[in-house]
Amino acid sequence: MHITRTNDYTIQVFGGKIYKIALDGGFTCPNRDGTKGYGGCIFCSGQGSGDFAASVTADSVHDSIREGIRRIESKVRNVEGYIAYFQAFTNTYAPVARLRELFMAAVSEEEVVALSIATRPDCLGEEVLELLKELNSIKPIWVELGLQTIHPATAEYIRRGYDLEEYDTAVINLKKIGIPHVITHVIIGLPGETEEMMSDTVRYVVRSGADGIKLQLLHVLKGTDLALDYADGKFDVLSLDEYIEILRKCLKLIPEGFVVHRLTGDGDKRELIAPLWSGDKKKVINSINKMINETGSNFLFHKKKDEEQ
Ligand code: SF4
Repeated sequence: MHITRTNDYTIQVFGGKIYKIALDGGFTCPNRDGTKGYGGCIFCSGQGSGDFAASVTADSVHDSIREGIRRIESKVRNVEGYIAYFQAFTNTYAPVARLRELFMAAVSEEEVVALSIATRPDCLGEEVLELLKELNSIKPIWVELGLQTIHPATAEYIRRGYDLEEYDTAVINLKKIGIPHVITHVIIGLPGETEEMMSDTVRYVVRSGADGIKLQLLHVLKGTDLALDYADGKFDVLSLDEYIEILRKCLKLIPEGFVVHRLTGDGDKRELIAPLWSGDKKKVINSINKMINETGSNFLFHKKKDEEQ
């Protein structure tokens, strides 16, 4: 088994080690503002997955990126460049003029070699796609899509708010305009899903036209509706051994060249209710690496906060 890591890909494309600087453009999401729903996805924290991102406006992007570079360069050397990562909530869900201002400010930074934009497949209308195409002619644009599962019953339970066809269309449209790297987020351990269902999702993503995947463990976070169901005993979370075993099976389905960006979750430990073992990052990473070594792969998984692998 040969696993292609983020580093393999960035070295191939940019010639060296690239770090991400997470930015929060102050967006919301259609699952929160009433367009699709009010409560958000059932697992989503109030931060919209951007717990570690710096808040920015077009005017402050420059300073936030400088601060991110200073922080990273105080810890590591030989950085080839940075990816401005718009992580929190739905980063294409705003008037295009506002998106343009913000993203143009980020791509204009000399050390920024690419933008990574996290969004939903149903927030990639024509105008947004035109903007992404224009940005991509300046620097490579990565687009991250939060799919989580291909199974309709789970999608309904987690209140995802769009169907699988919309994901397929989004990937086709993004590739059509030349987006070089589409990354799909998948959650391992969603309530009601069997190992086979999770494998089906990974299999589907690999064939969907996307270029990379983030596999994330389901976290039950304080203040979410998922936490209420968990407290009511409606589902169980995975043990570390179960998670590692599922990862082992999923990784076997991912061909060489399809980039594996993440193999664990990345929530705020203070908000974590379950599984508590996931708060011990060192143990989780060691367990993942042990499993990967046993498969004879060259892959070594690191987790550094600024790296966002
Ligand atoms: S679409 Fe993303 S930001 Fe919106 S509620 Fe779901 S997980 Fe949170």
